[in-house]
Amino acid sequence: MRAPVKSSASSSRAAFPAASPPAPAPERAAAAGVFAALAEYTHEQVSIFYEASSGYRGIIAIHDTTLGPALGGTRFWNYPSDEDALIDALRLSRGMTYKAAVAGLNLGGGKSVILGDNRTSRREAIFRAHGRHIESLGGRYITAEDVGTSTQDMEFIRVETQHVTGLLGKSGDPSPVTAYGVYRGIKACAKLRWGSDSLTGKTVTVQGCGHVGYFLCKLLFEEGARLIVTDIDPQRVKSVVQDFRATAVKPEEIYGQAADIFAPCAMGAIVNDDTIPQLKVRIVAGAANNQLAEERHGDVLAARDILYAPDYVINGGGLINVNAELHGWSLERARNKAGEIYDTILRVFEIANEEGIPSYQAADRLAEQRIAAIAKVKKSFV
Ligand code: NAD
Repeated sequence: MRAPVKSSASSSRAAFPAASPPAPAPERAAAAGVFAALAEYTHEQVSIFYEASSGYRGIIAIHDTTLGPALGGTRFWNYPSDEDALIDALRLSRGMTYKAAVAGLNLGGGKSVILGDNRTSRREAIFRAHGRHIESLGGRYITAEDVGTSTQDMEFIRVETQHVTGLLGKSGDPSPVTAYGVYRGIKACAKLRWGSDSLTGKTVTVQGCGHVGYFLCKLLFEEGARLIVTDIDPQRVKSVVQDFRATAVKPEEIYGQAADIFAPCAMGAIVNDDTIPQLKVRIVAGAANNQLAEERHGDVLAARDILYAPDYVINGGGLINVNAELHGWSLERARNKAGEIYDTILRVFEIANEEGIPSYQAADRLAEQRIAAIAKVKKSFV
């Protein structure tokens, strides 16, 4: 087994391919050198480019292109060291491989990082340098927005390469599609838990009333669910209370509410040693990335018979939305695809039951199965 990693795009990953020999911890791998890190994360390719006049320093990590070109956003961040930047690119890109695979998309996993202060005013030169870097890979990597970048930055990249999505006036804010996928995933969990996927009369706690949380509350309200919500921003709570008759509680009170379902839609690592004992719900299913503080918390949820919808499966709607842009975006098309998350969640729990493993591991298994199957198909008639 490879050492577990965390990414913003997915929860911790199991080994891929499964037959990999034991590998050192990521930090040790980075310290041992770039190639050790690549072996550790089983990457196809990492590209590093420095452009002196703009001061651009970028890393593009391509994890796996079995299913298609590697798609993943560009993160612009002031990393403490070059090693930290490399490790971030490696783990985020691997997370994207799994996320795209379970979403049924014909995409591989990639990610890029630009090292530096993302408040810089030299954006045109930096992002055009990044665009040239992407172009040099000939379509093996497609980028999009991520932390520290904007749609305007994507427009700069577009001047140099067509391998970019999330442009102005195209697919736009992915949150409604993400929320719809989460809603469908919650219904699948309800079906497994209670034999019916109706959410009428169910009580759902929602942590975070931001972009995704708001749209999710709307869908749940329209189906007749009762809402208990929280946010650190009082304005966002107010909208959901007014629009969807939600009950507001303080941020620290959300975990202990008597409810059926907990939908984390704020930040990561909220399923941990402190919060699990407080939970009174039967399902944890929400949009937030990296919900499990550590993998073992997924085991604890399973042991307590709380259904956990793996985060990178249920929140795949954002990636589905960006993918739709590559093929002529329409809201209906993106929503339909995100709706398939219902069946994917059912399949994840089927694998979990068949193999006697927790759901977060079953999700990894599903992704690995699809990649392995398509790899075999692609060997025909070469
Ligand atoms: P957002 O920033 O619009 O909303 C997050 C909300 O959480 C904010 O209103 C913020 O005030 C609140 N919040 C932060 N800390 C909190 C705390 N301690 N307690 C309660 N509320 C808190 O973000 P978003 O786009 O709605 O995304 C929500 C989550 O879903 C994030 O983890 C994001 O990575 C993940 N996600 C989003 C998308 C998408 O399409 N937007 C796709 C996949 C995953």
